[in-house]
Amino acid sequence: MREIDSSTKCIGLLGHPVGHSVSPAIHQALSDHFGLNLVYTAHDVEPGHLKEAVEGAYALGYLGLNVTVPYKQEVMQYCCELDPVAEAIGAVNTLVRTENGFKGYNTDMPGLYRALEEEGVKIFGKEVILLGAGGVARAVGEMLLKYGAGWCYIYNRNVEKACDLGVELSRRASRHFEVEAHALSEISKLPDGKDYVVIQATSIGMAPDCDRAIVEDPAFYEHVRVGVDLIFNPFETKFMRMTREAGGKAMNGLKMLLYQGIIAYELWNDVKVDEETAKQIYPLLESILNGKQ
Ligand code: NAP
Repeated sequence: MREIDSSTKCIGLLGHPVGHSVSPAIHQALSDHFGLNLVYTAHDVEPGHLKEAVEGAYALGYLGLNVTVPYKQEVMQYCCELDPVAEAIGAVNTLVRTENGFKGYNTDMPGLYRALEEEGVKIFGKEVILLGAGGVARAVGEMLLKYGAGWCYIYNRNVEKACDLGVELSRRASRHFEVEAHALSEISKLPDGKDYVVIQATSIGMAPDCDRAIVEDPAFYEHVRVGVDLIFNPFETKFMRMTREAGGKAMNGLKMLLYQGIIAYELWNDVKVDEETAKQIYPLLESILNGKQ
């Protein structure tokens, strides 16, 4: 690890709370790998102080920021410019310094895609069930649109949010992309005899609420060929366990977290992180999380 000195550059995470974030570990490992003189610090920003935090970081010369819950939408108004992907999703998780202020990006979307590729999960032409219609589900929807999924069935407790997302995705589709939106309570009506890629993008099952799955009926999991839970704590969620027990492949959201961080790091430092390096950092995150469970 490098010594901090007067030429050390700063990058920070803004969120509330940020106490359990593993992002500092990702960025420290990357800076060690590239030999860059950088520090990455997590800042717990009290509600009502986000604007000051962003402006303060810019004034202090920060190279960039990550932004997490609950500020991914609010921070958009403090960006001088938005990347079109972030604008389409309606959420920013990465700020990159420019001459005029910070430019906002969304690296959750490409981060999930890189994680799926790495796990050999193909999206192109596939029938995908998206569980949830909150912030991260919007990034998933954008990924399905961009990377050529054939069908997207959105199920959410609040059906209006599912419909809004469905309408938006359909409106922007410039190729064959069928989108249906349903209430979560309708999920038992899925047609029989099909295998889906299912992306679990709700907060149900996250620690400490580990004994819950967004769908509790075991019959649903007979349809799941691949079940991707975006939660990574616990390491195996009940949704993943039920997927695996019904014979499907299950993965969690830790690789998505790693790749969204890597893509942000690439934007800040104009470097390319190869797969070998990503594979070396992943076990570090696993061990941090296992230590926390
Ligand atoms: P969000 O905007 O608050 O959305 C929450 C989602 O969960 C909504 O679809 C909500 O449905 C649903 N939900 C909440 N409580 C529910 C309940 N009791 N019954 C049914 N549905 C319920 O949160 P988010 O930012 O999208 O994050 C969602 C999850 O993704 C979190 O667990 C987060 O940790 C994870 N995530 C992972 C990564 C990663 O890098 N791996 C990145 C971002 C987020 P309603 O609309 O009906 O309220």
